[in-house]
Amino acid sequence: MRQDREALLGIHHVTAIAGDPQANVDFYVGVLGLRLVKRSVNQDDPGTYHLFYADAVGHPGTDLTFFPWPGARRGRAGAGQTIAVALAVPPESLGYWTRRLTDHGVACEGPARRLGEEVVALSDPDGMPVELVAGPDTGTRTLWTPWEDGPVPPEHAVRGLHAVTLLETAVEPTRTFLVEVLGAREVGDGDGRLRFATGAGGSGAMLDLIARAGAAPGRIAAGSIHHVAWRTADAGTHRGWWERLRGRGIPVSSIIDRFWFTSIYFHEPGGALFEIATDGPGFTVDERAEALGSRLILPPWLEGRRAEIERVLPPLRVPAPARRGPG
Ligand code: ZN
Repeated sequence: MRQDREALLGIHHVTAIAGDPQANVDFYVGVLGLRLVKRSVNQDDPGTYHLFYADAVGHPGTDLTFFPWPGARRGRAGAGQTIAVALAVPPESLGYWTRRLTDHGVACEGPARRLGEEVVALSDPDGMPVELVAGPDTGTRTLWTPWEDGPVPPEHAVRGLHAVTLLETAVEPTRTFLVEVLGAREVGDGDGRLRFATGAGGSGAMLDLIARAGAAPGRIAAGSIHHVAWRTADAGTHRGWWERLRGRGIPVSSIIDRFWFTSIYFHEPGGALFEIATDGPGFTVDERAEALGSRLILPPWLEGRRAEIERVLPPLRVPAPARRGPG
């Protein structure tokens, strides 16, 4: 059993692919009420956005990010992929959410009971499966700062990432990898899925595994989840993970400075892409908390091309802050 200080602390972020960036902002900010905390570009394709949605300050564990490619064809969910992302909401808020989704013309199913939790299932504008989940600890997440100016009242707001679901053609060898390499433990079995937890477990630190023999492989494109990143506390434990993966002969990227965190990437045996990222320095390293997401942030090596990049990026209208209550 791994020492606690080395354990993966939970989900750090989830990155997915979208089509139209404006539809993506309108849905994740305007409907789900997440805050756009970073407006940047795809470092490998700076003529396209990289958009980051999270709580008010971008805590690790609250962050859902997208590469929107206008006109991108749709992906196909399949084996060897992360096929759904679950977001935590307080148990008493599910009624609010089903009403809100209906009011915004977003079809949803549920709430339905699954592994002792209540799940409302919906799709984002690109068809990506998103679940709003209420469980015993979804309303009491500590690494969460409410966005007071957001369109969703803080008492009902999304608390962060809750869990991810992987689809594979077989339970093994993904189970062995999760347990023996990543130090996860099996904490649930039911409703057609195995549940694993990392670190202290609970909301924000869980992965569900569905095995379906003969499932066709997926195709990653718009509406697909590209990768899941796992949290590690600091640069030392992060390097420890890089060495551990290499020591086990698992192909792993070099250690990459992503500016707001440091990353390594590798595939689990079924094919899904994983990342391990440091909790810090975080999204306020280059913008004040109040100003997060308000301007285009470029890595230093692209600053010289800012005018050209801003010219090719489509304009983005972020829904105006809410004016709730008196005044
Ligand atoms: Zn990532």
